[in-house]
Amino acid sequence: MARDYYEVLGVSQDAGEADLKKAFRSLAMQYHPDRNRGDKQAEERFKEINEAYAVLSDPDKRAHYDRFGSAPGTGGGSGFDAGFGSLFEDLFENFLGGGGRGGRRTRAARGEDLQYELKLTLEEAAAGLETKVQIPRLESCGACNGSGAEAGTRKVTCETCGGRGEVRTSHGILTVARPCPRCHGEGQINKSPCKECRGEGRLRTEKLLSVKIPAGIDDGMQLRLTGEGSGGLNGGPPGDLYVLVRLREHAMFARDGNDLYCDLPVSFAHLALGAELDVPVLGGSATLKIPAGSQPHQLLRLRGKGMPHLRDRGQGDAVYRLLLEVPQKLNAKQREALEAFDAASKEKGPLATSFLERMKKLLG
Ligand SMILES: [Zn+2]
Ligand SMILES: [Zn+2]
Repeated sequence: MARDYYEVLGVSQDAGEADLKKAFRSLAMQYHPDRNRGDKQAEERFKEINEAYAVLSDPDKRAHYDRFGSAPGTGGGSGFDAGFGSLFEDLFENFLGGGGRGGRRTRAARGEDLQYELKLTLEEAAAGLETKVQIPRLESCGACNGSGAEAGTRKVTCETCGGRGEVRTSHGILTVARPCPRCHGEGQINKSPCKECRGEGRLRTEKLLSVKIPAGIDDGMQLRLTGEGSGGLNGGPPGDLYVLVRLREHAMFARDGNDLYCDLPVSFAHLALGAELDVPVLGGSATLKIPAGSQPHQLLRLRGKGMPHLRDRGQGDAVYRLLLEVPQKLNAKQREALEAFDAASKEKGPLATSFLERMKKLLG
């Protein structure tokens, strides 16, 4: 007696096509015979999973199954092996590597995308720049047009697999495809490999490329250079090159979006009396006005002194956090001045007043 197909796939009765496919794919990967060699139980489970999916993924068969509890035209489980091979290939072409449909690798194939990490200083990111980068990559072999076969020759169809690139073995309804051992899944044999690329179809080269970095670029952003990745095979187009920007740490500033943050040490007198201080800005210095009565950790901004907006007008701000620095030692003159200040400070500030009130309450 066949188990409930929904139960086999672990889905609910109203599962949609995508849910079914997802459940089937993950279970079939888990129980695939290639991953469970010699495990009879896994093979049985695998058959069951395929059977369930073959029925439930077909709307007609599913409707029949929902009404009668069995697949159409069968007593229990075999009316559907006809379509099984293609179903299987369809789902696993990209998963099991090497197998799949024969001859795949001799067709035109796009080259791989490449990534290059470019380290920049904050100043460079703010100004933008044009720089050169040396990219190691594979380029299509011009002598054989990326085919790997000597000019004037052609690869011949592999006799072992008849050009399919795979060999199949059947176990009942289960057909397992493996890459052909003779041509390694290519479906063709290269009898006279191109001397230029030794039959690889591509050559290892280094290319010097010009990269234009726009002002305002941030850490983690990528620039795409179309067609500057690895060369294609058999006349296929090249991949793309992605330049990934990484910003070096800055001695003074931390960046947040278009704003630049700087910790600025100040004295009690600067905060209490107010001051005008020389502060760093990107590429120079500027004057920051500290208003009298400023508080520790207060943020003060210099508008427009931050990073330029990327591909837009305007700039962020430079933001200074006031860090109160208390002297650890006082000379005689400082001590005298501070004692005089303390003696003159009869009135308590708002924080001290509220603190004293709370303390009074607590002590009754
Ligand atoms: Zn072969
Ligand atoms: Zn070549």
